[in-house]
Amino acid sequence: MSRPLVAVVGAGQVGATTAQRIGEAGLADVALIDIVEGLPQGKSLDLAEAAPILGADARFIGSNDLAALRGSDVVVVTAGLARKPGMSREDLLQKNAAIVGGIADAIAEEAPEATVIVVSNPLDVMTWLTHRRTRFPKRRVMGMAGVLDSARFSAFIGMELGVSVKDIRAMVLGGHGDQMVPLPRFTTVAGVPVTELIAAKRLEEIVQRTRDGGAEIVALLKTGSAFYAPSAAAAAMVAAVLRDEKRVLPVCALLEGEYGISGVFVGAPARLGRAGIEAIVELKLTEAESAALRRSAESVRSNCALLEKLARPGG
Ligand code: NAD
Repeated sequence: MSRPLVAVVGAGQVGATTAQRIGEAGLADVALIDIVEGLPQGKSLDLAEAAPILGADARFIGSNDLAALRGSDVVVVTAGLARKPGMSREDLLQKNAAIVGGIADAIAEEAPEATVIVVSNPLDVMTWLTHRRTRFPKRRVMGMAGVLDSARFSAFIGMELGVSVKDIRAMVLGGHGDQMVPLPRFTTVAGVPVTELIAAKRLEEIVQRTRDGGAEIVALLKTGSAFYAPSAAAAAMVAAVLRDEKRVLPVCALLEGEYGISGVFVGAPARLGRAGIEAIVELKLTEAESAALRRSAESVRSNCALLEKLARPGG
């Protein structure tokens, strides 16, 4: 049997590191695609040259042509621009929508059976746009945010309690960024809810640090944003799909009635397997948690509406 093929679009920090993780884990061959001439080819060659040292047999193909998507089983979309000084939020939204929309069209054309994992920001809107443009079934279009946000929450809890991250299970729902909804009640250390292990006030500080996790890294790096943890999160989702792992992971998914929310892509726990999102897992939320999730979903909905408005002539 031939190895599966994963296409990673965008060979920047997140894309190249995702390609590295997928190849080194022997998950799949990787097609790395970017518009910058030589970049995906150079990084792919470098990755291929690391393979003999690591004993990983994956093939890496670098290309500037979206035709390299052809036949991929999973596509990870990491292409996009970072916000530059003087660029408004609307500007960034439109520019990244043009990039991601074009890529989505190419995915529909070249890889009609693929499962798509969107990473580009603003995440929830870009995932919605990808679903719309590919016209793929909802189970085959998802966004990466919750796995990263939960990992950050777990990392901070591990640092606080001095316990292994292996024993921590964290759950973060909702939109990516300020709108995320960390759920301490469903976050456990060896099965014990973290609410019993960390005082409420301190836990709230850790939750806030989780919300600000992306910004904390940007402030330290000064140029660019996080990529080690984001690429690990994307690769874990790729593994769950390709290996049919049936893992329950928080992903940005189209909700149609679950949690009382409809027609919005927002972070919720989902069972991931070869078919993509095989089920949305509904946790029993308190009224406050539900309200936070609904607020988060409404904010995503209004951003999608804003993008539609901007896309209209004269919008
Ligand atoms: P980066 O600037 O290092 O890489 C982006 C790459 O996209 C560049 O190499 C660029 O040339 C390429 N690109 C631009 N237009 C393209 C097109 N039309 N086709 C193919 N490639 C194209 O950025 P990064 O740090 O790798 O981040 C990538 C994206 O992921 C950003 O939108 C970032 O905000 C987002 N991100 C999301 C999360 C998350 O949790 N969802 C986490 C980290 C980063």
